[in-house]
Amino acid sequence: MSNLKIKGTNETLKVENVFCIGKNYLDHIAEFDTQEKKAEVPKEPVVFLKPNTAVMTDSGVVTIPKLNGKPISENLQNEVEMVIVIGKDGKEIEQNRAMDYIFGYAVGIDFTLRDIQAEEKKKGLPWTVAKGFLTSAPVSEIVKKENVPNPENLDISLKINGETKQSANTSQMIFKLDFIVHYISTIFGLKKGDLIFTGTPAGITKLNSGDIVEAEIESIGNLKIKVG
Ligand code: MG
Repeated sequence: MSNLKIKGTNETLKVENVFCIGKNYLDHIAEFDTQEKKAEVPKEPVVFLKPNTAVMTDSGVVTIPKLNGKPISENLQNEVEMVIVIGKDGKEIEQNRAMDYIFGYAVGIDFTLRDIQAEEKKKGLPWTVAKGFLTSAPVSEIVKKENVPNPENLDISLKINGETKQSANTSQMIFKLDFIVHYISTIFGLKKGDLIFTGTPAGITKLNSGDIVEAEIESIGNLKIKVG
């Protein structure tokens, strides 16, 4: 069970479902274009889930799971993302009421086993192993929304060993926050404590054991993760 700290308080929020949006920044879709020759801008959000056991609540160590003593992947990659934290239950939430359901925001990294994901895509299989493994979803403290006046215009970045690899602005998202909340609540419903990872900009990179990954979003905070 994961409880996220709420910045500036002694309170925590228990994490329920973890929804993730894929392909929400054009430049990230373009980097897949060159890798796969078939990436397209989605007409509707691409949604996948991580189990809430994937959430890591403190700066820690991301580790590729081992089966029979052998790591299941040789290509762990970073994806810095702004995370929406849902503050109350709702379903079929109208877009013009959607922001009322947001409690706050956090910095997240959607760690991905890219070789496994590529194989799953090729075979038409779910992405759950590539995306949902233990430690794959570190999340920072939550910042209440009243302290984030303009969530759709924040610089978002990620460094590996001090070198900037991802640098963008949340204004570049294809699907906006109110639409994402409307869309997910209409199909799945939303609960207090649900997280929504809102997608990553370009700059995904193969990580190596010992790397230090630092993610930051203006006005929200940062995360520092070591690769195990
Ligand atoms: Mg992602």
